[in-house]
Amino acid sequence: MDLWFARAAVLLGNIVMVVIRAPHGERSRRIKVVKSRKGPLEIVLLTLAWVSFFVPLVWVVKPVPPFANYPLRPIPFVIGVSAMALGLWLFQRSHADLGPNWSITLEMRDKHQLVTQGVYRHIRHPMYAAIFLYAFGQALVLPNWVAGPSYLVAFLLLFALRVGPEERMMAEQFGPDYEAYRTRTKRLIPRVW
Ligand code: SAH
Repeated sequence: MDLWFARAAVLLGNIVMVVIRAPHGERSRRIKVVKSRKGPLEIVLLTLAWVSFFVPLVWVVKPVPPFANYPLRPIPFVIGVSAMALGLWLFQRSHADLGPNWSITLEMRDKHQLVTQGVYRHIRHPMYAAIFLYAFGQALVLPNWVAGPSYLVAFLLLFALRVGPEERMMAEQFGPDYEAYRTRTKRLIPRVW
């Protein structure tokens, strides 16, 4: 397949992701942070996630590193685009459901409410599930062993090290309500895990 298919899918996917997030990022700047758990580890993880988010965009302009390129095939491309689309849909849904309670990092906002409805009714981390789907799709769509999975690898690391502290922070804030929510939901995959 022509590389332009991969370039178009990666570019469009990244643009849609930024467009979905932009208004929420804008609003969150105006809502007071009342508690922050943004330590040095969180800063390192966020920086890594940002850098790895841009690696595929660099590849779109210039397919680097050249030694890691391989031919684009239709089956992984179609599966990848579908996973990216599903991820973007879930990303939009989880942002809509979380509303003003969203933060890019481990923070509690002014008038923070525990969200247990919408996509949060089925899993506790739909936004992370969305980013996983998207990053997994991108790894299939982008035929380069370095640029393709870069975001997936960085996000795996961020998720693995953040999910525990995030749930502890939520449990401290919302006590029995969060404990009850935690017992009736799974982390990423409904009814499974
Ligand atoms: N882990 C969630 C949210 C990611 S955004 C998801 O994947 O969908 C991270 C911030 O959202 C956390 O710092 C916390 O402040 C907030 N948050 C996480 N779960 C929440 C919930 N169920 N209700 C309200 N706020 C939540």
